[in-house]
Amino acid sequence: MPFFTQSATFSDLWPTTRGHIVDVIENGKYSHGRKVLELESALAAYTGAAHVVGVNSGTDALVLLLRACGLAPGDEVVVPAFSFIASASSVVPAGGRPVFADIEPDGYGLDPDAVAAVAGPRTRFVMPAHLFHQPADLTGLLAVARRLGLTLVEDSAEAIGMRHDGVHAGLLGAGGVLSFFPTKTLGALGDAGAVITNDPEVAETVSALRHHGRFGPTIDNFPGIATTTGLVGVNSKMDDVQAAVLLAKLGRLDADIRRRAELADRYARGLTGVPGVRKLPSVLPRRASVRGVFYVYVIEVDRRDELAAHLAAHGVGTETYYPVPLHLQPCFADLGHRPGDFPNAEAACRRTLALPLYPDLAVDDVDRVCDVIRSFQTGGHA
Ligand SMILES: *Cc1c(COP(=O)(O)O)cnc(C)c1O
Repeated sequence: MPFFTQSATFSDLWPTTRGHIVDVIENGKYSHGRKVLELESALAAYTGAAHVVGVNSGTDALVLLLRACGLAPGDEVVVPAFSFIASASSVVPAGGRPVFADIEPDGYGLDPDAVAAVAGPRTRFVMPAHLFHQPADLTGLLAVARRLGLTLVEDSAEAIGMRHDGVHAGLLGAGGVLSFFPTKTLGALGDAGAVITNDPEVAETVSALRHHGRFGPTIDNFPGIATTTGLVGVNSKMDDVQAAVLLAKLGRLDADIRRRAELADRYARGLTGVPGVRKLPSVLPRRASVRGVFYVYVIEVDRRDELAAHLAAHGVGTETYYPVPLHLQPCFADLGHRPGDFPNAEAACRRTLALPLYPDLAVDDVDRVCDVIRSFQTGGHA
């Protein structure tokens, strides 16, 4: 079975998707048009955000969010040493400097004490990433941000549906992002993303930046007639066909999230107590009520690469999120980090393995993956 597919989901959804795509064709505006506005409102209703601004990708959303939050050249942003590359690389085109801090060994979120340890006089932002199945320790991170006078922005690219004390991930501080990359919990058929925020000024600035620095109503703002605002923007408009696909999928997002939770339960039952499986994902007890969402199912194992090869030999696709910690990525070599600087991040890179988890998957598929893992750990054959 593949690590990811959404072909069954899309055949179920095709009539609804097709209706939205026909709307786009008939509207005659294929980028930054009415479907994007419709999606933005639907996402505002879903997340509870006062403002949702659709852009080209989750990565662009991070860059534009940081710029809109007033990041000045040379400002430092504390980011986790373990995440997707964009959690750190997005700081650079926004004009800032990423400063790495270690994660918690469980849950994989930025460790609030580690943030306090690396923050200095030029540090202005802290940007945790909410990875895999639960938000980072937002109670602790909000406290450290308040104490040090830092602005909290959230890399909530993976976190649609996750909540902290009832508040959707991305809305605890100045703002957050969503990624609609195809494998994400709400995935499109190509790239798309959004900024979510309760701050009207942040939303207005992101709206201008995504469209060459132009203000004004989205749908009537054809290039050539609009004036710019004084901001130097970029082209990060959202594509209406992706908005159409996402509107169709949003209708079943909660059902998809429940399905993901069922499959995760099934994995937990199949893998508990299997020798060599060190850790199964679970939502950690926090000083807040936390709603997790299984975006991926990440376990920690001994001999990770051998297990991945064994699974591949039995036709099971897996992924490694993330193989290299961010502080040791060649593009950040000038920061001068060495192996050993962030032991929790480095251990996670050595041991984590993501198993297939998506609504198209059957319970029997999960059982088969568990059997193959058991056969590897006991040296037998599946
Ligand atoms: C997917 C992801 C991003 C980037 O989103 P794109 O839409 O792929 O640009 C950023 N941060 C994290 C943690 C992600 O998982």
